[in-house]
Amino acid sequence: MQHHPSSSETPAAQHAIDLSFELFPARTPEAETALHETVDQLSRLKPRFMSVTYGAGGTTQDRTLGMLQHLVNAKVPAAGHLTCVGAPRSAVNEMVGRYLQAGVRHIVALRGDPQGGLDQPFVPHPEGYANAAALVKGIRAITEIEISVAAYPEKHPQSPDIATDLDMLRAKVDNGANRAITQFFFDNDLFYRYLDRVRARGITVPVVPGIMPIVSFARIRSFAEKCGATVPTRLADRFSGCDNDPERHMAVAAEVAAEQVTALREQGVRQFHFYTLNRADLVFAICALLGIEGAAAKRCAA
Ligand SMILES: Cc1cc2nc3c(=O)[nH]c(=O)nc-3n(C[C@H](O)[C@H](O)[C@H](O)COP(=O)(O)OP(=O)(O)OC[C@H]3O[C@@H](n4cnc5c(N)ncnc54)[C@H](O)[C@@H]3O)c2cc1C
Repeated sequence: MQHHPSSSETPAAQHAIDLSFELFPARTPEAETALHETVDQLSRLKPRFMSVTYGAGGTTQDRTLGMLQHLVNAKVPAAGHLTCVGAPRSAVNEMVGRYLQAGVRHIVALRGDPQGGLDQPFVPHPEGYANAAALVKGIRAITEIEISVAAYPEKHPQSPDIATDLDMLRAKVDNGANRAITQFFFDNDLFYRYLDRVRARGITVPVVPGIMPIVSFARIRSFAEKCGATVPTRLADRFSGCDNDPERHMAVAAEVAAEQVTALREQGVRQFHFYTLNRADLVFAICALLGIEGAAAKRCAA
């Protein structure tokens, strides 16, 4: 099998694993307090950065910004997601300014889903950015900070084919993106094949696999279908009998994610982006299985 390093940024010997954690902003003051505790715990795993999602159309603007400010104050490297759907360029640029003002030095630049969902065509705002590539260009005109973008090992559901999808990734990188973070996938061969195509297309930035722990197997299938991601049948067997046993479900979810990461590491992948679902317990369970420093101690203390 081929060797597939995702990153040339840091020597593998120095950083055997390089993590980033994605959070979504809390909806209530109670959830916010809990999220601050989650951040505190996850920061012990020394991630490269933690990112905070952004409701398409700006629905979570203030909460995203508030969470980012919390990360900056806690001295956690913070990445703010930003979408351009349904907004004029001026409003999006203003948000970039607010991020910079808050001390954020990394943006995850996204188009966002069409307002009616992914089965509706994407219609840019008349004065808006046409897609994520245009957004990256717009951000680059304002600032030199780090920019990450989305990538799709199984192609974006609205891309007519893989070649068009790769063209879009190439445009995002040509316009100044420094890193791609993938949509979640469960079959590593899809990632290896995608990475070969990305490199063949002349795209050299790190492509970081997005790891989605399966907190509810019952729900993941419909969610994955919407995102254009495949759920292998072997996973149904792994989760069978877990529906009414949350503890067992959580243990299997951690095992499945840790096995995926281990297999990717064996192929030379060093950077991983975890969709944490704001669950420090789950991330710690995965990291403990991976033997990551700090994870085992926390689990024993919990
Ligand atoms: C790591 C990651 C983080 C994410 N975070 C968020 C978040 O915080 N908030 C959120 O709302 N969503 C988020 N998303 C979801 C993302 O917004 C959706 O997948 C969205 O549908 C596409 O965004 P994009 O940036 O990939 O778009 P783009 O790269 O611009 O486009 C995706 C595909 O659509 C097609 N396309 C683009 N523009 C056009 C056009 N004008 N006409 C026709 N076809 C076009 C292209 O083929 C392209 O490959 C995230 C996704 C990932 C992978």
